[in-house]
Amino acid sequence: MSGSLTIVGLGPGAPELTTPAVSRALREATDLVGYETYLARVPMSGPEQQRHGSDNRVEIDRARHALTLAAEGRRVAVVSSGDPGVFAMAAAVFEAIEAGDARWRSLDIRVEPGVTAMLAAAAAAGAPLGSDFCAISLSDNLKSWATIERRLEAAARGDFVIALYNPASRARPHQLGAAFALLRKWKPADTVIVLAHAAGTPQCRLEVSSLAEGDTLAADMRTLVLVGSSRTRCVARADGSAWVYTPRSEEAVL
Ligand code: SAH
Repeated sequence: MSGSLTIVGLGPGAPELTTPAVSRALREATDLVGYETYLARVPMSGPEQQRHGSDNRVEIDRARHALTLAAEGRRVAVVSSGDPGVFAMAAAVFEAIEAGDARWRSLDIRVEPGVTAMLAAAAAAGAPLGSDFCAISLSDNLKSWATIERRLEAAARGDFVIALYNPASRARPHQLGAAFALLRKWKPADTVIVLAHAAGTPQCRLEVSSLAEGDTLAADMRTLVLVGSSRTRCVARADGSAWVYTPRSEEAVL
């Protein structure tokens, strides 16, 4: 089959954080497939390029549509925000391939990485991911809340720094509070919390707080939450704000 499909990650928002390899795949594509909000971030590359926007919910249908276009010989780019392999379209494409038309397996399929929200948030805060960390999505669209609770508990018991994706949406306003309440059973109340809104964009806003006070902070669909390990700490800056970092070593720091 002559068609190709590249699943790209645009990065967190600022154009400079889109990699040159992703920009190239977008320029060369005959067809762009993705959530409309993400397609709107892609510069037009010419009058022939076709855009197939959809809403955010139908990932598998979107993946099948992209594969069908590629099988017709088109050069397709499937667009995600951040990294396409992190809670995003790349897994949906492989799921569609595994269950779908056997001929899709001979397509030229590639994944182009991007800067995921967790890394943009961490960089804005300092170096909170300096030691072992994990990432958990709080969305229970594709898994049960019981699974999320089990993983939060395991992460807390393991003393990982925890990045929480999808901390809240209009349909799920209470989940971040429920997650903090569960984490408070295992972690000290003064554990460092960072809420990063629109990380990796000019509108980036950080709130540094503690697990005890986290409930008073508002998260939305563009917020990434970092929950520190027992070693994560703040370094006061001259302007009254703080850098947040996790030492790489287990040994005591001054
Ligand atoms: N593939 C994306 C994640 C998709 S899940 C990535 O790698 O970043 C969507 C969640 O990502 C959002 O609810 C939010 O928690 C987080 N997110 C995406 N962009 C963000 C940004 N610029 N700042 C903070 N969080 C962001």
